[in-house]
Amino acid sequence: MTVFGRAENTRTAERGWNYKESFRLFMLPNLEFLDVSYNELEYISNGIRNARSLNYFIVEGNLLYVLPCGILKIPLKRLKVENNFLHPFFWKEIKQLQPQRLGDMAALCFVQNNLRKRYPGIPEDIQKQLDSCGTCDCCLGPLYGQGLGFLRPYRNIYGLRLPYLFSACSPACYMNYIT
Ligand SMILES: [Zn+2]
Repeated sequence: MTVFGRAENTRTAERGWNYKESFRLFMLPNLEFLDVSYNELEYISNGIRNARSLNYFIVEGNLLYVLPCGILKIPLKRLKVENNFLHPFFWKEIKQLQPQRLGDMAALCFVQNNLRKRYPGIPEDIQKQLDSCGTCDCCLGPLYGQGLGFLRPYRNIYGLRLPYLFSACSPACYMNYIT
């Protein structure tokens, strides 16, 4: 399957590409070629890690400062990224870690310490929050909220160093991953 994208229909004012729409696109099992060049995209969902058949991904001419680390997990033959903001000149600004939300840190602490057994009667809204987690890019454990986002450069098959965005579940996990 080949998709040439104009992202107008799936854009949000906030991020440039609706998370749910792009996530659904990346779930297509036969998606092999995706061209979303020149769409003013500021963000590519890490759901791209699910696009296991994707061979060609063209994202040139957008507003990207980082690429999602999920790209590293798929066997791309061609990745076109020219005319974005991926140059090392911009990395210093992105490298600064943003603090995690207290509620997200508390949820992680609750789950990691298996406190459900100790406190079985927790309110439904808290239970919902505990169940709505993603996956940590570093330890593959639960990730609440945005996690600790950080940039790691990796060389692609052509020797080009590109910045990838990872989300760690906690400061300890982040430290463990980078050392
Ligand atoms: Zn983690």
